[in-house]
Amino acid sequence: MANYYQPEIETMPYDQLRQLQNERLVKQVRHVWDNVPYYRKKMEEKGLTPEDIQSVDDLHKLPFLTKADLRDAYPYGLMGKPKSECVRIHSTSGTTGKRVMAFYTQHDIDLWEDCCARAIVAAGGTKEDVLHVSYGYGLFTGGMGLHGGGHKVGCLTLPMSSGNTDRQLQFMEDLGSTILCCTPSYAAYLAESIHERGLQDKIHLKAGIFGAEAWSEDMRRDIENKLGIKAYDIFGLTELSGPGVSFECEEQTGMHINEDHFIAEIIDPDTGEVLPEGTKGELVFTSLTKEAFPLLRYRTRDICVLSRKKCSCGRTFVKMAKPMGRSDDMLIIRGVNVFPSQIETVLMQQGYAANYQIIVDRVNNSDTFEVMVEMTPDMFSDSLAKVARAEKELVGALKSMLGIAAKVKLVAPKSITRSEGKAVRVIDKRKI
Ligand code: ADP
Ligand code: ZN
Repeated sequence: MANYYQPEIETMPYDQLRQLQNERLVKQVRHVWDNVPYYRKKMEEKGLTPEDIQSVDDLHKLPFLTKADLRDAYPYGLMGKPKSECVRIHSTSGTTGKRVMAFYTQHDIDLWEDCCARAIVAAGGTKEDVLHVSYGYGLFTGGMGLHGGGHKVGCLTLPMSSGNTDRQLQFMEDLGSTILCCTPSYAAYLAESIHERGLQDKIHLKAGIFGAEAWSEDMRRDIENKLGIKAYDIFGLTELSGPGVSFECEEQTGMHINEDHFIAEIIDPDTGEVLPEGTKGELVFTSLTKEAFPLLRYRTRDICVLSRKKCSCGRTFVKMAKPMGRSDDMLIIRGVNVFPSQIETVLMQQGYAANYQIIVDRVNNSDTFEVMVEMTPDMFSDSLAKVARAEKELVGALKSMLGIAAKVKLVAPKSITRSEGKAVRVIDKRKI
């Protein structure tokens, strides 16, 4: 069994890595120019030919691709290989609009699974592990990505997919699952269910690989404590293959980007200008090795920071902080920018679980902003006056984090629908 910790690549000195990226970028730009007329036209409009891109230093000259381009070129317009050479289609989960399609050759699948294998190894996975994959299987990339990675590492891989919580727990117990892969919101739900059923002693998980949506550090700690595991973040997007674009190591201070396959940039979302390391902005990726869907300078709309600070794990790949949400997750309420992740942080700090929903509406030309939060089980028997006091405290804490006032409603435990995939946190009635 191959070892999917690849120190010769993952701990490569920066100048060598840069050299590898330079070579791959030049080749990739040529591939796109020759095979993707849609992007070639964009380059021509800027007066560019492949010769203008000699190294990563020239990357900034290339035009961006956005989700709008993907929709324009829907479905096959950005393919870099004929259909006959592709073997798989996935699509985004459509969290923020129409789904986009992504295509893979067998080679693309192979490299994607390598990236997921690296993530599993970084979370301590070996061939001794039972890898319990509760990401959805199907069009969504989560299930099949981690599944393929699990095979590569040699884990005994269990393709549970999401849903049917009783069966999840039964299999976890019977088969002795050691690593759980799912969205953090589903992990929180499973953790809650394990406690309710008093199954803590029967579950032998040691690690979790959770991603596909934004989650806070407080939520991480909560899941870790409830499940007695170490919880690792993993990031990716369908357009770039799926999960495994970046992954956390034991230091848990950001996700190492697989820089032999992807170049990351941070740009100012308004001007498109490339920002220096350590500055917050929009994450942009260039895929260096993908054949079937070779996106150059793809704007993710995720807001994030990069860091090349030395990591104790020895990996030299740049780290991205937890994205604080997508620019399109950001709500503008009464003129103030509000990210659901900020609300989550406040709730967790105040001792609530991450079960909440944000409802925004417009009444008489003014925005209304309500946060529904589940009471903790012990609050349920409290007097109305006590609940009202707790609501008031939350209003204050939210106001000092966000700068605007929200109405808070504490609702009965378990009354907010649990998610088996990506959680739906926001109901923005202004858009309906
Ligand atoms: P959709 O855009 O329909 O949700 P995807 O399933 O491809 O489609 O989701 C990719 C997006 O999910 C990323 O752009 C990012 O916003 C979010 N995401 C993925 N992993 C993480 C993570 N670990 N932390 C925060 N957000 C994440
Ligand atoms: Zn590290």
